[in-house]
Amino acid sequence: MPQNIKNFINGKWIDAVGGKTLKSINPADTSDTIGIIPRSGQKDIDMAVSAARNAYEKWRLTPAPRRGEIILRAAEMLVKRKQDLGELVTREMGKALPEGLGDVQEAIDMAYYMGSEARRLSGETVPSELPDKDCKSIRVPIGVFALITPWNFPTAIPAWKLFPSLVCGNTVIFKPSSYTAVCAARLVEIIAEAGIPPGVLNLVHGTGEETGEYLAAHPGIDGVSFTGSTAVGEKLAKMCSALDKEISCEMGGKNAIIVMDDAKLELAVEGALWGGFGTTGQRCTAASRVAAHEAVYDKFLDMLTKAASKLRLGSGLSKTTDVGPVINESQMQKILNYIEIGKKEGARLAIGGKAYKEGACAKGYFIEPTIFADVNPKMRIAQEEIFGPVVCLIKAKDLKDAINIVNDVKYGLSSAIYTQDVNNSAIAERDLDTGLVYINASTIGAEIQLPFGGTKKSGLGHREAGGRGGAIEMFTKWKVIYRDFSGTLQKAQIDKD
Ligand code: NAD
Repeated sequence: MPQNIKNFINGKWIDAVGGKTLKSINPADTSDTIGIIPRSGQKDIDMAVSAARNAYEKWRLTPAPRRGEIILRAAEMLVKRKQDLGELVTREMGKALPEGLGDVQEAIDMAYYMGSEARRLSGETVPSELPDKDCKSIRVPIGVFALITPWNFPTAIPAWKLFPSLVCGNTVIFKPSSYTAVCAARLVEIIAEAGIPPGVLNLVHGTGEETGEYLAAHPGIDGVSFTGSTAVGEKLAKMCSALDKEISCEMGGKNAIIVMDDAKLELAVEGALWGGFGTTGQRCTAASRVAAHEAVYDKFLDMLTKAASKLRLGSGLSKTTDVGPVINESQMQKILNYIEIGKKEGARLAIGGKAYKEGACAKGYFIEPTIFADVNPKMRIAQEEIFGPVVCLIKAKDLKDAINIVNDVKYGLSSAIYTQDVNNSAIAERDLDTGLVYINASTIGAEIQLPFGGTKKSGLGHREAGGRGGAIEMFTKWKVIYRDFSGTLQKAQIDKD
């Protein structure tokens, strides 16, 4: 039986005002409807924004460590429900169960990290140039935030936004992807049970164009934190800048691995396989290109193709599955279309290239793990984000050539190099123009205690996650306080002998 999912507004679970609904289905078996979800319109958003605005003043003045305690309680509850939630992630999004559980673990990590960060929302105290005067900088919340998330990390990405925004004292309206709305509802249930006050966290389901855009443009919203495609992120960024709203966007990627002639090839093959076909290639950090040194190119291609031929497709809930389905029909058609483009461009199909409908995969959106060899770096398949199980192998003359290949795309999220030479790794670390660089590891696997995000068309505004320059910057603004206790008029820069 599909679950009847509701919006969460002002502490209450309610249907959309117009009564319209959408379905969330299992991409591995489209006969399995997981949830009937509200298709929210303007009235629902107006209500949610009004609830968040009303709750803001009290939440802003709640001591940050008290706010953090609620998030730490949510962390404990997530630990207890990890298995159930992980299975739901797999059923609703499709990724293999160990990855579904990893998705929830990332949410747990973020909850513990940000819950504790509540006691460290520090600014600076510095000496004044004038006597009997002190000065400090403090962080203050921004106000009411819209949090808009994609489907590929149904609990982790919402957690990356929800926990820091709430700890920092903002109130929020969360608009998850309609493809993973049931996971989003379960996550919000947990935070509500952990004790978040009514109106502080509101959940509104719906489509991007109808619900997301109206929400982002709403005059009651002070800031937007968006993760999704570059096309939508850039549209929202332009709109928010015209409306004087804060916005940060994490967007697409066209990530690459360099395999040098001195690399441990078995390790590089494992990395390329995990980076290219893990999460069925549906990660913003997926390794969709490999630039292999010409001296090892043929051997690497042979090893990678053999390894890819052993990957087993199926439902992520099955223990034997390595690669799950892609998320929906339109994504499946988009990926198959890119495969046709690659063939027409003259790339050589080394393996895969078709939809897969055998046996238990008959009712799902499955695509064979696909490798294109002899790819020219200027081809569309090497330039554009495919977001599916397709890897493009490119021949590189030397390290400089490989770095140029990696950098010569409009994106700049993640890159990796496999080499045993310390000089190669140092040069790559310096010259790769991506927000994340991995040495002897694949392009995926970011840890939450460091800032996450990319350059060029992969990221805009503040980075996500932890550390200096991470999400705390996104969800606070600086205020500087000067206190003069001299009892006289003192003039900075001017009262100087
Ligand atoms: P998407 O851009 O289609 O949708 C993302 C979210 O935005 C969804 O909630 C959607 O409903 C909403 N949305 C869509 N159109 C909107 C509009 N006009 N106004 C407001 N909201 C709108 O992306 P997707 O298909 O859900 O996710 C895949 C994309 O996300 C890929 O490009 C991937 O690289 C990117 N992604 C990036 C990161 C990162 O951290 N850089 C992480 C995960 C996914």
